[in-house]
Amino acid sequence: MDEFKVDIEQGVIEPRELSATDRFKFKCYPGIECFNKCCSAMRINLTPYDIFILKNRLGLSYDEFLIKYTQPASIDRTPLPIVVLKLLDDEEKSCPFLLEKEGCSVYTDRPSTCRYYPIGRVHMKKVDKPELREFFVLVKEDHCLGHKEDKEWTIDDWRQDQGVDFHDGVTRDWLEIVIKAKSLGMTEFNKGSLDLFFMVSSNLDMFRKFVFESRFLDSYQLEPDLLDKIRSSELDLLKFSLRWLRFALFGEGNFKISDEAKVKASERLKKLSEARKQQMQEREQKAEKDMAHMQEMKKNRTDS
Ligand code: SF4
Ligand code: SF4
Repeated sequence: MDEFKVDIEQGVIEPRELSATDRFKFKCYPGIECFNKCCSAMRINLTPYDIFILKNRLGLSYDEFLIKYTQPASIDRTPLPIVVLKLLDDEEKSCPFLLEKEGCSVYTDRPSTCRYYPIGRVHMKKVDKPELREFFVLVKEDHCLGHKEDKEWTIDDWRQDQGVDFHDGVTRDWLEIVIKAKSLGMTEFNKGSLDLFFMVSSNLDMFRKFVFESRFLDSYQLEPDLLDKIRSSELDLLKFSLRWLRFALFGEGNFKISDEAKVKASERLKKLSEARKQQMQEREQKAEKDMAHMQEMKKNRTDS
């Protein structure tokens, strides 16, 4: 459905587009009869900030967290590689952070998907329009009794209450990349771009090595203040990595770079634009072929 939502059957999504000010009724609390029923058999895409807070919460390195708690996947309708939460191999396919009595053991650091629930955020593109539209939907699963409660929210209130505004703020550049990739469809990113995307999206330890132990700082001229910040603060390094990724993939944003890095960036953008062009041509050829086929069939029907 979107970059945050779990794999939910379409039938449980209310067929109504919601805006930030639209209202819905919902309340979830320990003690509700369905407590914990939503924490199994689902897919949870992990954003870079989800991984950052969870691995810090658990006191693990990125490698340790990735091996123990994740498995590879890709973002719906894109070739972009990410990781999703690895569920337990029990009958219910439970979340590894779920405790029977207490509920979520990482509640204050839970992923964005869990925070949004029962709201889904959707980006949709009309065939004849280049831009994506954003709206929200309400997910109503039979087992979830929170919808029968009287507490009323606007979508904006809910997002604020659940802390997703802050999460989305940290990952803003990453979300822009994902949205853009969705609007391009399955356009072929080259392997180098996908590897960069995966490294930045899932493993900040690796990105740190990439910055401080490769020729990165020869190519990118960073202000001393910024350099100090990303050396001393993991969160600043994370934000920087996402800003840089947007620049590396789409040339968006401001970075002072060496001539060599300029050449590399322009080669990458050229390849992406060629891939896009080729994809458009293939689409047009296919549309023409389909049209010719339909006309042929129509003619045959009329002749007979
Ligand atoms: S992280 Fe917490 S809220 Fe999210 S599925 Fe797991 S137990 Fe449930
Ligand atoms: S009310 Fe819904 S979200 Fe809350 S515990 Fe029950 S099933 Fe999960």
